[in-house]
Amino acid sequence: MTTEMTERQKYDLKRQIEELKACRGRHTELISLYIPPNKQIFDVTAYLRNEYSQSQNIKSKTTMKNVLSAIESIMSRLKQYKQPPENGVVFFVGHKSVGSDKTEMVAYVIEPPLPITTFLYRCDSSFYTEPLEEMLTEREIYGLLLVDRRECTIGLLKGNRIELLKYMTSQVPGKHGRGGQSQRRFERLTEIAAHEWFVKCGETASEIFRSVEGIKGIFVGGPGPTKRFFVEENYLHYEVQDKIVDIFDTGYTDEFGLRELVSRASEVMTNLKISREKRLMKKFLKEITKTKDSLAVYGEDQVRKALEMGVVDTLLLSENLRKYRVKLQCNSCNYSEMRTFSEEDLKDFSPSVCPKCDNDNVMEVVEKIDIIDEFSDLAEKTGCKVEIISAGSEEGDSLYSAFNGIAGILRYSVDL
Ligand code: ZN
Repeated sequence: MTTEMTERQKYDLKRQIEELKACRGRHTELISLYIPPNKQIFDVTAYLRNEYSQSQNIKSKTTMKNVLSAIESIMSRLKQYKQPPENGVVFFVGHKSVGSDKTEMVAYVIEPPLPITTFLYRCDSSFYTEPLEEMLTEREIYGLLLVDRRECTIGLLKGNRIELLKYMTSQVPGKHGRGGQSQRRFERLTEIAAHEWFVKCGETASEIFRSVEGIKGIFVGGPGPTKRFFVEENYLHYEVQDKIVDIFDTGYTDEFGLRELVSRASEVMTNLKISREKRLMKKFLKEITKTKDSLAVYGEDQVRKALEMGVVDTLLLSENLRKYRVKLQCNSCNYSEMRTFSEEDLKDFSPSVCPKCDNDNVMEVVEKIDIIDEFSDLAEKTGCKVEIISAGSEEGDSLYSAFNGIAGILRYSVDL
């Protein structure tokens, strides 16, 4: 089962949710139906049949009609499934309001990139998108380990939830004994006790972290130098040791320390993504200043050309692009052409003159694709890496404003 989404899947899901959220019903007549992968289709159909008969009691005639036709639409679509797809399926169907008194029937069928966990039917004046939105929140798992000579706490960070898994205390005496002749003996015993304690901590932590699947990294914390000593002396299993991302000073080694450790580490975690984006944009900006053998390419047409030639190493796309690649076709002579439209242009589009047969009102939109998807498709064909650069950072904004949101770093310099 997949637990992680690609950059592109995240982007597509985000856009899908935006579109769904923009739909408003005039009344409670938009249906959201979440079907998890383990649900039987005939159970769903039975459920819908029941909803169908219930809905016949709706007082408003138009609302009733709209709800019934939405349910019918879902039931007929369900017939195409013998069983739910791998991650389940979501239906969003209903009459959305399109100004004044008009409504328009919409139907979205979404097979999400992560599994649906709960069966859910909802009829409301808006689509219920929370379960999809939840998929977008980071659900990476990190291991948390706090250790000193007195306490050891083991936990997990799942998304933004902290889980305490184990808390242990030691019997290691303090460092200072009574002095005199027995002092050396006391110290030796203390060190033996400390060593045994670290062995116990290492074994317990290793066992726990190795049993959790998909740990992305481990953060270690604690006050003083003990935690580093513990890591450097290899008290942890080598597989666990390899996953240590960073070591931090924390004031506490108990449950409170876990929260301290996460707040220290969270900067590192967000920075991981942002710094990767920054690094790539810097590389691109450096290439662009070169007068000879520059590896930079930018602008829609140039980048598309480079992608078709298969010479792009990394494709940089601004998350804010909001453009569509559209196929216009003449309904009279069949002449067609590809054009790029902004979201607003596409909304305001009305059939135009055909450049070939000269008839008016004949060029219609027959296909459209989000330009990020179009470029990602081209990139995937040639093994080019795709980076969707977030808005809001200086680098992200410059990609959007100075380079129209589309740029690339070439494998080698070419004349385009
Ligand atoms: Zn024509």
